[in-house]
Amino acid sequence: MLDKEGREITYLRISVTDLCNLRCKYCIPEEGVNKKCHSDILTFEEIEKVVRASAELGINKIRLTGGEPLVRKGIVDLVNKISSIAGIKEVVMTTNGTLLKQLGKALKEAGLKRVNISLDTLKEDRYKNITRDGKISDVLEGLEAAKEAGLNPIKLNVVLIKGFNDDEIEDFVNLTIDKEIEVRFIELMPIGINGLKFHEKFLSSKTVLQKIPNLIPIVSKDEFSTAKYYKLEGAKGKIGLINPISHNFCSKCNRFRLTSDGKIKPCLHSNREIDIKSALREDKDIILILAKAIRVKPKEHHINEEDYKPIDREMYQIGG
Ligand code: SAM
Repeated sequence: MLDKEGREITYLRISVTDLCNLRCKYCIPEEGVNKKCHSDILTFEEIEKVVRASAELGINKIRLTGGEPLVRKGIVDLVNKISSIAGIKEVVMTTNGTLLKQLGKALKEAGLKRVNISLDTLKEDRYKNITRDGKISDVLEGLEAAKEAGLNPIKLNVVLIKGFNDDEIEDFVNLTIDKEIEVRFIELMPIGINGLKFHEKFLSSKTVLQKIPNLIPIVSKDEFSTAKYYKLEGAKGKIGLINPISHNFCSKCNRFRLTSDGKIKPCLHSNREIDIKSALREDKDIILILAKAIRVKPKEHHINEEDYKPIDREMYQIGG
């Protein structure tokens, strides 16, 4: 379906939970997440209904995210159900990877195509620090398990954070020399409470090109890709730069979001939300609600404007 700007919307990102087994400092408050009442969270049947209706409107790609999607009980069944819905060509996931060792194979068998694994540092002590007590070995083992299960190509999501991982850019780039992975550097975005400190930590993805000038640009096969791709000569993998701030990709944005508490978000950087939970629970037709949410998708975000205020929700409540 086309939105009012004429963009074809084909991609729905679904957060299945606010809960996470890590506490990344730029994403989740130190005290953790207020556990929502069971009835505030969409059931798997409700999520499935939204996916079915979305498929009727032309959505063909679903990304499951969170919180941490793998902490939600029954996630493999959800993948199984939604990946067999007519019109859905691919179900993929963004995860911190810590539970992939246990779940990777079952997810692949259930129909998951690929995973993006979030990893902002390759150093054990820094990982423990930024995640407030996570173990990097869990992620590295998860990554290997995902590769073995065939959840390829694995994409590593690295959020660039000034003073935290700018000295590791070269190490991340070098991972692509003999591994068929995509390392994607993502610009930090102003979201929620942490958004207020955004300018202290923001690092443009241009920094990657300045530090590694021998990266060669390559053309992406995916016209909707939010990443600009590069590679080292002879490398097996590639590098993606995702620049939501320095070069926004709003004009080709093809996505909208569903939160775990049943709100549709047409744009990540706008507070506008459309409730779909009540309609689901009153057994009303949700196609009209989805169609409206797609139609009203804003033309662009306003992050770079002087008076921009970060949105109220935190990233863990949206899913990225
Ligand atoms: N728990 C999963 C994970 O770690 O991938 C999924 C949810 S997490 C919110 C999704 C992604 O958002 C992660 O890659 C995380 O690093 C990224 N993220 C969180 N806050 C961000 C911010 N302010 N700017 C850019 N990316 C952010």
